[in-house]
Amino acid sequence: MKISELLREKEVTISCELFPPKKGSELQKAHDVVREMAQLKPAYISVTYGASGGISEHTVDLANEVQNVNDVIALAHLTCASSGRDKIQEVLGELQEKKIENILALRGDIPADLDFPLPNQYHHASELIQEIKAFGDFCIGGACYPEGHPEAESIEADIDNLKRKVAVGCEFLTTQMFFDNNILYNFLYRILKKGIEIPVIAGIMPVTNINQINRITSLSGTILPQRFRAIVERFAENPAALKQAGIAYATEQIIDLIANGVNNIHIYTMNKPDVAGAILANLSEIYKAE
Ligand code: FAD
Repeated sequence: MKISELLREKEVTISCELFPPKKGSELQKAHDVVREMAQLKPAYISVTYGASGGISEHTVDLANEVQNVNDVIALAHLTCASSGRDKIQEVLGELQEKKIENILALRGDIPADLDFPLPNQYHHASELIQEIKAFGDFCIGGACYPEGHPEAESIEADIDNLKRKVAVGCEFLTTQMFFDNNILYNFLYRILKKGIEIPVIAGIMPVTNINQINRITSLSGTILPQRFRAIVERFAENPAALKQAGIAYATEQIIDLIANGVNNIHIYTMNKPDVAGAILANLSEIYKAE
């Protein structure tokens, strides 16, 4: 099923995310994670592609496992910054063959320590979207940034570029993580004013360990509210307490979003079915899996 259709049909959706292993030898373990995640019955499971600017050899395999083995809709991420047209066509062919019809089309980060020449055929995600549309009948999503993409001159300029992405066929957007819901509400108002009316899926990151927090703070632009920082400071030395607090914080964020009519939530579950399960258990009367 196409995600655009799912979003029209279901009032509330909660989806989860997986990242593929770097080594083929770890695929079996990744398949176990898929199975555990699928048992939670999320609306769909997304599978990331080549973090830090690289390509990914296992995204299609994992998306296949999600959809064709575990019977949950798969959303395959695809980035283009590090790929030539041939590689993109090859991956699209594999997705088509496995009947995976949902793609999150991304530019990808330009790696800082690049040790291979960039093919440079694609400069923006909108070019990839056009390529995918020309290739076949896929439902295409894109990324958006409530606090502005770090490279954008301003949030306004970023929203103008987002409008370009929507104009060429992006059918839904998933947001970068944010820790203050007011940032999302403000962003939704601004994009609506610019005429962007496609569904926006709110990306929520449950922060459950200190390494994640260090990574987030190194991302330029992500605002950490005082309430969030207090949790980190209080529980930094107690991993179990930090995990519990991170799950509670994400749960509260999701409840506030749904209460305010933001009905489509994507949890950055980072291969942790226990975290996804704990959040979904907290929401059992708010989100019915079926
Ligand atoms: P774009 O939409 O191309 O935007 C990138 C920058 O270019 C922005 O500053 C934008 O304002 C500007 N821009 C866009 N179009 C134009 C234009 N026509 N003219 C001038 N400027 C323009 N990375 C991975 O490697 N793998 C993943 O699986 C992955 N999944 C992600 C999922 C989500 C939900 C999000 C939010 C991000 C994800 N990323 C992933 C990270 C993403 O690849 C980076 O944030 C990347 O830097 C930007 O990708 P984009 O698709 O948003 O790019």
